[in-house]
Amino acid sequence: MTPKLEIEHTTFGLMGPLAHTSTTSMSIHCVIFHIGDRVILLDAGFGTQEMDDPQKLLGADALFKLGILIDPRLTALHRLQARGIEPAQVTDIVVTHLDNDHVGGLHDFPNAVVHVAAEELAAYDSTQQRGPYMPYQVSHQTKFKTYGPTDERWFGLPARSVDLPDILDVKLVPLHGHTAGHCGVAYRENGKWSLHAGDSYFDHKMNFLAHAPGLPLEIAFQTDYTNRVATLAKLRELRLAHSDEIQMFCTHDQNEYISWTEDRGQPDLLIRYAE
Ligand SMILES: [Zn+2]
Repeated sequence: MTPKLEIEHTTFGLMGPLAHTSTTSMSIHCVIFHIGDRVILLDAGFGTQEMDDPQKLLGADALFKLGILIDPRLTALHRLQARGIEPAQVTDIVVTHLDNDHVGGLHDFPNAVVHVAAEELAAYDSTQQRGPYMPYQVSHQTKFKTYGPTDERWFGLPARSVDLPDILDVKLVPLHGHTAGHCGVAYRENGKWSLHAGDSYFDHKMNFLAHAPGLPLEIAFQTDYTNRVATLAKLRELRLAHSDEIQMFCTHDQNEYISWTEDRGQPDLLIRYAE
């Protein structure tokens, strides 16, 4: 019998409040896909390396400005072990982009195949430095599988099907701007689509206002202003035209994270201290 797909939402880290919004903290909203004993992750958050030596690896400046909470219990490794899952069961990790708060956890799952947009890996490898890219987090041993442009479309947007078991239908949806190859990750659950929009927006209340203000964090970390704003326009259009077919969430909106986990009957007991 084919094992069934089970999906959990979690945060693999916590950061400080997002300025000019009502968030008390920022989640690092990630997804755990269970297919029998096999586990596939969507984004990996900070890992045990960062939690063990934050000052050296993340630096005092980032720790202070982003309010990164040092708590190893929040890492993917510990959160999976708390569920009785061993690192070897994690076979694949799909990533929205390669900033340090999304791929720190890769190190804890050295055997997993890491699925990423080709442009994102090219940008990471280029000589143009981006602050949140941390070269120590990946190595030539990281098993990347890259995806370039295709003719595929998903609700009118370009898309790239990710090579995963048939039961898990996952597509990278280019949403550039935050980084050069940033993608949303769409997946189907019980016939209905969800879109993890990564860092293409930070606060669902602020970013989709008619004349959305620029939030300090999204401006500070954007790679390309024009692409970022065009991405927001695409997401706004999706929300208007397909809200009954697509559920959307982003990485760092704590209120959104709390409502996603509570609405699914999976409240996150570990982050109660941040509310
Ligand atoms: Zn981020």
